Amino acid sequence: MPVTTEAAIKELAGFKNDDVPVVSCYLDVDGRRQVRAQDYQRRLAALVREAGNGPLGDAVTADLARITEHMAGHLDRSGVRGLALFSCVPKGLWEVIELPVPVASRIVVNQAPAVGTLEAIVQELEPLGVLLADRQRARMFVFQFGELIDRSELFEALPRDYDETDDAGRGQHEQMQDHTDELATQHLRHAAEVAFKLYQDNGFGRLSIGASDEINAALEPLLHPYLRERLSPRIGVGAGASEAEVRAAALVVEQEVERAKEAAVVTRLRDGVGAGTKATAGLVDTLAALNDRRVATLVLSDGYAESGWRCSCGALAAKGPQCPVDGAPMEHVADVLNDAVDAALGQGCHLEICVGNADLDVLGRVGALLRY
Ligand SMILES: [Zn+2]
Repeated sequence: MPVTTEAAIKELAGFKNDDVPVVSCYLDVDGRRQVRAQDYQRRLAALVREAGNGPLGDAVTADLARITEHMAGHLDRSGVRGLALFSCVPKGLWEVIELPVPVASRIVVNQAPAVGTLEAIVQELEPLGVLLADRQRARMFVFQFGELIDRSELFEALPRDYDETDDAGRGQHEQMQDHTDELATQHLRHAAEVAFKLYQDNGFGRLSIGASDEINAALEPLLHPYLRERLSPRIGVGAGASEAEVRAAALVVEQEVERAKEAAVVTRLRDGVGAGTKATAGLVDTLAALNDRRVATLVLSDGYAESGWRCSCGALAAKGPQCPVDGAPMEHVADVLNDAVDAALGQGCHLEICVGNADLDVLGRVGALLRY
């Protein structure tokens, strides 16, 4: 993945010019919903046509062509669910940012890059801290967007004859053993300090430890309380792992954390629906809540698709053809959930797509936590 840090976004936000417009393009390329490349390419073509016919269309012909050309090429979508593209040919601006979350597809032509959506995503996706430790080594990594954004390494050698048995000098050996244990504990204390330093620098939301059971048991109590309350499931690599192994294992932890987060949202949904407060489930009621702009979090079962109806006023419905809001005739759409996702993201709602959550399936595969 290319560099995607808050710094890059700040740089984009700082790009200002008064004479030529900038094209910002957000594209939903989520393979779970946009199965084939043609699916998102068709959506892009429609957005490009619309922008080209807009008031600043003539000034951004080259930008729209470059975006179209870029998206016609092969896109490795593993881990990528959304794209943000920024182009201003006359000023030499060209930035493509891959996002691990879906975004509402849209093109904005303006004097500055439209970075609000990006900023919201960065705030939402807290970095993951990974601390690998053994008796001599401590390695701390911080990942964000699957990208390594910070690291720190510590090596504190224990006395070389550690672990050597010496029958002649038993007492001396035990003394040495006590001393090495003390050094090892001191080392873990340093490891905990390194972790806290990187936490202060990066503010990661979760911390995953990679260590033996023995080291883990000794290390956890030494962590700053802020870090202890952020502990995630342990990562399946030790202090000797390569960076690629750490990255791959970090992705597994991220997925476990994601599944747990999804389960928590579905529990809130189920409890809310049960109590009849600030929650709704099922396609009909969820679309109605979206039409009323009452949705805080749209909760959707991965892969759920259903035909429905869309009005030119933006309203969505399970049954047509008459718009429930203004009575106008609606257009039939093959997958109204696709439109619901776009509407939700466009309204600034959170989106939780749940993988293999049986509780959500029982609730009708879609639901919403409501603002009121
Ligand atoms: Zn309508």
